[in-house]
Amino acid sequence: MDYLDSLNPPQREAVEHTDGPVMIIAGAGSGKTRVLTYRIAHLIYAKGVDAFNILSLTFTNKAASEMKHRIESLAGLEARNTWMGTFHSVFAKILRVESEKIGYPSNFTIYDTDDSKSLIRSIVKGMHLDDKVYKANTVLSRISGAKNRLISWQAYQNDPFVKADDEAAMKPKMGEIYQRYQERLFKAGAMDFDDLLFNTNILFRDHLDVLNKYQQRFKYIMVDEFQDTNVSQYLITKKLAAVHQNICVVGDDAQSIYAFRGADIQNILNFEKDYPDLFVVKLEQNYRSTKTIVEAANSIIDKNKAQLKKVVWTSNPDGDQIELIKASSDNEEGRIVANTIFEEKNNKKLSNNDFAILYRTNSQSRSIEEALRKMNLTYKIVGGLSFYQRKEIKDLMAYMRFTVNPADEEAFKRVINYPKRGVGDTSVEKMLVAAYEHDIPLWEVVTNAHSFLPGRAGNAVDNFATLIKAFQIDVERKDAYEAANNIAKQSGLLRELYEDKTIEGLNRYENVQELLNAIKEYVDNPENEDKSLGAFLQEIALLTDNDQDKDQTEAITLMTIHSSKGLEFKQVFVVGLEEDLFPSQMMMQSREDLEEERRLFYVATTRAMDKLYFTYALTRYRFGRLLNCEPSRFLEEVDPNCIKVNKRMASRDMPGAFRREGLPGRTTNTEASSGFIGIKKKPESRVPSGMKVHTPSPDFKPSNTNNLRAEQLVEHPKFGFGKVQKIETEGLNRKARIQFEHFGEKTLLLSFAKLRII
Ligand code: ATP
Ligand code: MG
Repeated sequence: MDYLDSLNPPQREAVEHTDGPVMIIAGAGSGKTRVLTYRIAHLIYAKGVDAFNILSLTFTNKAASEMKHRIESLAGLEARNTWMGTFHSVFAKILRVESEKIGYPSNFTIYDTDDSKSLIRSIVKGMHLDDKVYKANTVLSRISGAKNRLISWQAYQNDPFVKADDEAAMKPKMGEIYQRYQERLFKAGAMDFDDLLFNTNILFRDHLDVLNKYQQRFKYIMVDEFQDTNVSQYLITKKLAAVHQNICVVGDDAQSIYAFRGADIQNILNFEKDYPDLFVVKLEQNYRSTKTIVEAANSIIDKNKAQLKKVVWTSNPDGDQIELIKASSDNEEGRIVANTIFEEKNNKKLSNNDFAILYRTNSQSRSIEEALRKMNLTYKIVGGLSFYQRKEIKDLMAYMRFTVNPADEEAFKRVINYPKRGVGDTSVEKMLVAAYEHDIPLWEVVTNAHSFLPGRAGNAVDNFATLIKAFQIDVERKDAYEAANNIAKQSGLLRELYEDKTIEGLNRYENVQELLNAIKEYVDNPENEDKSLGAFLQEIALLTDNDQDKDQTEAITLMTIHSSKGLEFKQVFVVGLEEDLFPSQMMMQSREDLEEERRLFYVATTRAMDKLYFTYALTRYRFGRLLNCEPSRFLEEVDPNCIKVNKRMASRDMPGAFRREGLPGRTTNTEASSGFIGIKKKPESRVPSGMKVHTPSPDFKPSNTNNLRAEQLVEHPKFGFGKVQKIETEGLNRKARIQFEHFGEKTLLLSFAKLRII
């Protein structure tokens, strides 16, 4: 079994100790995830365990699919049959089979955060409460906190401490909102993310036969990133493992960064109590990073009081010192990062994939993106506003959701009057109230519209009901792609977007086509057994932030530190190391909070394999104002032997050598190289790039674009200067993909676009 040779002795021990409870709590980069992967392969290959009997819970679905492929290469195709995914996706799948036992339809909808907030707003309004006191965000996070601790609305209302808490916070109605929220979800046949776990717990509590079935099925259970499980998740795994007790959890208390979402380090301590005959494995050797990085990370986490002491060392080379870079502004920070990547790529023959830029909050990406675009460096943002959050995508998905589950109130609200069919807000409200007050299904109200609404609006809703009924027949008979295609056409949504001939309108139209492509891909993928629209919708609802980079091209990764958990890159930039930003002012109310921020810094640091950079800016635009910033206290906590200050500068010239001379202060007015040959840069504006208005040159006159080709420079009256990347489709629909200096990459239909060839 030569695959075991690529493990060190304690790793191998953990892999071979397959029976009974096992816990591996070890530092970053010590091979925890690797051990899990090999363990599963070993179970299948050496122990002959049926892959169907193995359950493995990971942090993202992408991590699960990567793991699956790895196991496949070690143990063969059989690996495909393991149950693998995030807690949410695995238990949603189980609920789809079992939900009728707890009163939910099997085609229940999964509400995303937007849906949940919209529902809360409507409840707060219905109760005539002040929506500034009962902000949707605050209410949702309070409810979520309760659910993650398995506190039902009944328990919530009966708990005197909770009540006192809410009264002190001047929100005495919280318990009632929680109740109404759950009632409305139930009525809509919908669950929010937390319900997926909460309801699994209810299912297992109240239906021992069901619990028993899954206890028998999952003979071996594994949990990665165990430090970030919450009470609800822990209980599920504990119950499932109760019969066979073959449970292996791996994690690192120093990387626990989701306390704000209810994750509980206590789970690690409880685990030892719950399984007295626990086999504990220590992994101390780091294989990921250079000595310098490992030592720096150790010196950071050392400052935390609350931690399990452990040793992390590496036999890797010392490597370069960490570079500390000061920039005069956030924009300059972006330019320095972009320049450095450009240099390192050339000098060390690295590819874009080898780089990651990590930040504390999503909004920091703007200045970095701008600089990368100017240097023509391809990047991808993981997380952030994803494809599936776009309005046109949500609209079409809402049609599909309502077709599959006509109790889904939030989907209904989105589509009943879009495209416009003469059903105003008052009519919509009337129908919802009718359903709620008479306690009848929403669909019954919709199909008997005339009993609730006057003539014209009633007719319109009638037509809408007929349309949905036709879609439902399609969904029954056809696969997800054919059904979705029909819905996009017959609903009028495609036509509505098609008729909008603005650039944005075209983009939206193309996005909808892209969604249809994604559904086609889903249907064509042999791994997906259930090709129904319902199955597709569930899969999409469960994508995590990190799952959504479909793009396989080589790109620099931009992401928040939270999303970077478990990943590794050759070179990592941790940007925005400034007081109030990181550690974050908003999250810091106590010593525990500071320690959580410090763990986040530890996570960021330990993502780097070869080289690490810390950057900060002296001024930064935040909340619409230019603020002076101080370097983060965390910088002083890093062992000074590991760090050197480097006066990297944003280059004034074309991409090339840095200007190493000079003091940072002198760079205030430095202009970035444009990355575009021959284009004169305008003075920098502080408006976010997407909003910067271009003033066409005085001699602007659209050129004939028949002979336009890649690499040519062009001017667009709105998007300004850009460089043609590719001509995409020839003929009538001839399109050009153009990288604009300030507006990013756009694909324009050449028959519409007014372009001047420079
Ligand atoms: P994190 O805490 O960040 O999730 P981890 O403990 O899960 O880290 P892995 O991602 O499993 O660590 O491993 C880190 C890197 O070290 C990976 O590239 C992995 O392939 C490599 N690695 C781990 N163990 C060994 C080994 N015994 N021999 C060679 N490489 C190893
Ligand atoms: Mg890992």
